[in-house]
Amino acid sequence: MRVSRFLLSTVKETPADAEVISHQLMLRAGMIRKLAAGLYTWLPLGLRVLRKVEAIVREEMDRAGAQEVLMPAVQPAELWQESGRWNQYGAELLRIKDRHHREFCFGPTHEEVITDVIRREIRSYKQLPANFYQIQTKFRDETRPRFGVMRAREFIMKDAYSFHLDLASLQETYDLMHSTYSRIFTCLGLQFRAVEADTGSIGGRSSHEFHVLADSGEDAIAFCDTCDYAANVEMAVSRLPAPSHEAVRAKEKVTTPGIRTVDEQATMLGISHERIVKSIVVMADDKPAVFFICGSDDLNTIKAAHALGAITLRLAEAAEVLAVTGAPVGFVGPLNLPATLTVIVDSQAAQTHNFSSGANQVDYHWINLNWGVDVPLPTVADVRSVCIGEQCPRCDGHLSIRRGIEVGHIFQLGTKYSQALNATCLDEQGKATVMTMGCYGIGVSRIVASAIEQNNDAQGIIWPNSIAPFHVALLPMNMHKSYRVREAAEKLYDELCAAGIEVLFDDRKERPGVMFADMELIGIPYRLVLGERGLDEGVIEYKERRTNTGQNIGLADVVAFMQAQLTQ
Ligand code: ATP
Ligand code: MG
Repeated sequence: MRVSRFLLSTVKETPADAEVISHQLMLRAGMIRKLAAGLYTWLPLGLRVLRKVEAIVREEMDRAGAQEVLMPAVQPAELWQESGRWNQYGAELLRIKDRHHREFCFGPTHEEVITDVIRREIRSYKQLPANFYQIQTKFRDETRPRFGVMRAREFIMKDAYSFHLDLASLQETYDLMHSTYSRIFTCLGLQFRAVEADTGSIGGRSSHEFHVLADSGEDAIAFCDTCDYAANVEMAVSRLPAPSHEAVRAKEKVTTPGIRTVDEQATMLGISHERIVKSIVVMADDKPAVFFICGSDDLNTIKAAHALGAITLRLAEAAEVLAVTGAPVGFVGPLNLPATLTVIVDSQAAQTHNFSSGANQVDYHWINLNWGVDVPLPTVADVRSVCIGEQCPRCDGHLSIRRGIEVGHIFQLGTKYSQALNATCLDEQGKATVMTMGCYGIGVSRIVASAIEQNNDAQGIIWPNSIAPFHVALLPMNMHKSYRVREAAEKLYDELCAAGIEVLFDDRKERPGVMFADMELIGIPYRLVLGERGLDEGVIEYKERRTNTGQNIGLADVVAFMQAQLTQ
């Protein structure tokens, strides 16, 4: 490709509204342009990278025996009503009406559509297992679209759905997808980690997320420094410390005027945060519930929702806390709460002796409360978030926490959708059986941004070879003044192209500095500089973007040399 014929829209200034490096660099390199919040146009440079990611994903899915399909982006409401998600999905679902006032949505995911297709197409167990995938545009009306294509509203996903006669067959395909995803992210040149994950609103049995490790990641992932335990902090667990066998003291009510926070309580009462049991009032599916956790801990809202079997969960407003418990925020405690309230105590807080907590009365707390002595022990569940350094649940190692960007997610759905949509097939005995399903997503457009998060420097992007928009930047110096340079550059360009190498040939009338800066910004892995002096010696100057090292190469050897670099 000649730069003179290519829309190279590089920008020097860092765009003001781009918070993360990948978003800044994608705009500066001229890969994407914003149309509206969460909606982006892929310019030619960006699209070349996106297509390479797609190609790797497609190749590996095909290798794993999945069959490609393409489903409509617009989906009829009736299917979503059949699965029950029309009402559950909430504001992320973009609902639209056609000219006949029929309701549709713009698909955020395709479980309903594929299940509808398969219930019509597959009749017999002999056609199973089967795995279908597509690479397609999704729309989710995200609360906070941000970081460019990383959390967009319209984005490209590879989604796959597998169908089985039984769970054993699902497990096989699930394991195959797990290893296929590992191959994909390895091919893409990314540092990643597979972690145990929550099944979220799609629902189902077990699930793993694939995370690209990067400080800008929106997710926190916990992993053991010794064994291979790794989980999203949304569901990570740690081993409980051994319970202490402290003597029970007599409870005492103390005045604590204006003392509402755990810090204030600890200072005034001269006790550690671990000895404080704090209350957190929530509204789960619009019903109130109270959680009690240690003062030093954070309530994990995902675990909390699971503990209640709720779909939505939010912290209660101050007025709701008062209405529900009879006490204002800061003074709610387990003793003498209204008996009808749902109360859950975290497993660690349940082990605490002689603790302090609110007295359900303004400006009063109890000290030396004990479960089972002063207050009956409520339902116990693990609802806290793990912290760095805690013990691994599987071995004697300790947990570290790092940030990750979720680029893939695999689920064992079970019969959630096939049951609702009555997707059955005949088993060996000729009996109609509800099919078992798995689903497997990859954020194709998000991968482009995550790759940049892991591969950049002060000059710009450094593409891994597998997804670079071009392999080589061919930069002739002052070609417009030198016939020799032009002739040699044109010849080399033809030879490299003929060898299947993707070359960006900078034939602009630009100063060398401008060319170098542009090629570094857009991240081309290899650079070849051709000038009068080199021609005198019969060499070209070669440089690697990642290591910033290079050497002179004989003109006759360039093609073979570049081929060798690219097949490394
Ligand atoms: P997240 O927690 O980041 O919102 P999710 O759990 O909603 O992701 P899935 O429903 O599992 O995502 O979708 C499959 C993949 O699609 C994700 O792993 C992610 O890589 C990608 N993805 C999801 N939402 C977006 C988005 N708003 N923009 C870009 N990619 C996305
Ligand atoms: Mg989401």
